[in-house]
Amino acid sequence: MKTLNDFNFKDKKALIRVDFNVPLNENFEVTDDTRIVSAKPTIIKILEDGGSCVLMSHLGRPKGKQNEFSLKHIIPKIEDILGVEVKFASNCIGEEAEEKAAALKPGEILLLENLRFHEEETKGDKAFAKKLSKLGDIYVNDAFGTAHRAHASTTIVAEFFPENKCFGNLLAKEIESIKKVMEHGDKPVLAVLGGAKVSSKITVIENILDKVDHLIIGGGMTFTFVKAQGGKIGNSICEDDKMPLALEILKQAEEKGVKIHLPVDVVAADAFSNDANTQICDVRQIPTGWQGLDAGPDSLEIFDRVVNESKTILWNGPLGVFELENFAKGTIELGNSIAESTKNGAFSLVGGGDSVAAVKQFGFEDKVSYVSTGGGAMLESLEGKTLPGIAAILD
Ligand code: AMP
Repeated sequence: MKTLNDFNFKDKKALIRVDFNVPLNENFEVTDDTRIVSAKPTIIKILEDGGSCVLMSHLGRPKGKQNEFSLKHIIPKIEDILGVEVKFASNCIGEEAEEKAAALKPGEILLLENLRFHEEETKGDKAFAKKLSKLGDIYVNDAFGTAHRAHASTTIVAEFFPENKCFGNLLAKEIESIKKVMEHGDKPVLAVLGGAKVSSKITVIENILDKVDHLIIGGGMTFTFVKAQGGKIGNSICEDDKMPLALEILKQAEEKGVKIHLPVDVVAADAFSNDANTQICDVRQIPTGWQGLDAGPDSLEIFDRVVNESKTILWNGPLGVFELENFAKGTIELGNSIAESTKNGAFSLVGGGDSVAAVKQFGFEDKVSYVSTGGGAMLESLEGKTLPGIAAILD
């Protein structure tokens, strides 16, 4: 696996695929700069080597060239974070970009306009990728968030750098963290899967059963399992057509010696609302008209014990409807347990969709070992897929 350390960037131009797909407010100001901050170590290392950086990214889902999706809006933020002036090419390919890239001196940075202003980017067009490849000597992929897409800048462009391509620091860290959990984590290994639906996590569950000793299943998924086992779930969210699959998963887990922990009690509500009346009840005895929206206290006690006995922990998906204050307790308590276990030496990886939002919202970011930056890419890795962006570098 080639990383930045395999190259000396002195007098070289690095063409870096970063993920600067950041949220902007109505004044085009960056409202969450995590992704830019995450790319900093790679950029600084190359500049300190005596190289220069050509940064390419997408922003949003533009239809053609739309000013609101221009990457020029984020230049002040990048300059702020890196402490280096950022030059800009108003088209990611073509004469202007080529001239500006050629004129770059060691220590300088050029940002290219939004890759997705060209539809060839998402189509993985080879001729477009070739044009991008002219802008650098060494290709560096540091965008985990798009590594599951075979786009021109994330995958196809690597073909034009057969020897000179590598992972950036961020992508390398993402790959190592996933490996640590999925391949060589200290035992016992625990996965906590929450979130809304079994259907969106099924491939993850199936793949993960071979890797873990314990599996906590929480959130809305719980009720498909509980109903399949004959429990009364009231109005709780449930995918009836997935009930046979839920039973199959339980059977497979038993055969593989994986201990599955489902909630034993829930916070039930008489409406999907923060103002609803609530009661704690047995997960198999939810009254008609009520729905389970969070894990109950007995469940949290059990989960806390399992989390604290585990040496490697993967967390994907909230334990309840954490967006509503009255149903956030399960997710917060689980975060506390994982933070404590991490403090005592466990390795914890949080990633994939809403768990990252929850971890940030409740301030656990610095209390777990690693928070993944890629939602879809993380999920596909957990499903056991080889991501095209990663394969292209390993090739
Ligand atoms: P996912 O994107 O699959 O990780 O799902 C995250 C969503 O699951 C969040 O928006 C939660 O509000 C939702 N969720 C978690 N627990 C429940 C539940 N018991 N009932 C309904 N939705 C839930």
